[in-house]
Amino acid sequence: MPLIELKHVSKVFPVRQGILQRVRAEVQAVANVSLQIYPGETLGLVGESGSGKSTLGRLAMRLIDSTDGVVRFDGEDVTKRRGKGLRTMRAGVQTVFQDPFAAFNPLLPLRVSVSEPLQVHRGQSQKESMTRLRELMPLVGLSASHLDRYPREMSGGQLQRMAIARALTVEPRLIILDEPISALDVSTQAQVINLLEELQRQLGVAYLLIAHNPGLVRHASDRIAVMYLGEVVEIGSAGDVYDAPKHPYTHALLSAVTVPDPDVQRTRQRIILRGDVPNPADPPSGCRFHTRCPLALDICSSDVPEPFVLDNGGVVRCHLHTTGPKLAGRPIVDLDIPAVPQTIAL
Ligand code: SF4
Repeated sequence: MPLIELKHVSKVFPVRQGILQRVRAEVQAVANVSLQIYPGETLGLVGESGSGKSTLGRLAMRLIDSTDGVVRFDGEDVTKRRGKGLRTMRAGVQTVFQDPFAAFNPLLPLRVSVSEPLQVHRGQSQKESMTRLRELMPLVGLSASHLDRYPREMSGGQLQRMAIARALTVEPRLIILDEPISALDVSTQAQVINLLEELQRQLGVAYLLIAHNPGLVRHASDRIAVMYLGEVVEIGSAGDVYDAPKHPYTHALLSAVTVPDPDVQRTRQRIILRGDVPNPADPPSGCRFHTRCPLALDICSSDVPEPFVLDNGGVVRCHLHTTGPKLAGRPIVDLDIPAVPQTIAL
């Protein structure tokens, strides 16, 4: 059974303007997304800036309400939960954000901030929570003395370890990692990823890993979901998605990733997309990717592609698998893709 399940979840944000703050437009940040995260797995979420990845993470944690759809945690519908029921669910889903320096109050010693989840979710005093905090420090590669320091006395990597410790205090079953290493220097990034992998082996915690670096996501994920303009366009095992992408957007996104084998790297074709990501307040009709897709068919501008379930269990939303060339689940490389001289912004 999935730990978290999102079913046809959408999120619309109103855009307000003027003195009266009238609603002038609506942005559909997440559109009809269905996915599951299973116990102990890492689901990587990739896509360009503004694709809706972070909003999806906040919906999964119920930090914001969905406009449509259902969120289930451990088999229970938590879409409309409020008060104590919501707090209980949130104790099982913790978050680690991108900037560790923004995650802690600079005026308080770290032990105060790190013990917060225990006070909120377990009703413990700060004194009572110290036993758990001291237990956690070696697990994240720090010592108990670090708890008495202030954020300014720590490096970025140490602070991110503290943020991970804070997430672990209440023994969550899922941690949402929202760009957890992009604010760190390169040498520290690998250490934090190795730490997260080791913690997962020891504790069996699941991760939703949101990152704009597709190379990192491949290394650290069991499955990968690819988002474009609020929609999940492809989802599957990390190997299947990276080695044989089925959606033109996935293919373009991943073509920018350098592979370690120089012989394989030499044979790879970089797919460069035309144009910018469209305005999410006015998304293109039909397939949202059709204005940039080098393989678009006539049907793509009018009909929304339905999910196509692949033999390997993955899902792709693209007319190429059901119409025209009828890829029917075969990888995009089975087609000739014209090179279009423009850029993709990650
Ligand atoms: Fe391209 Fe059409 Fe597939 Fe969309 S549905 S990705 S426009 S081929």
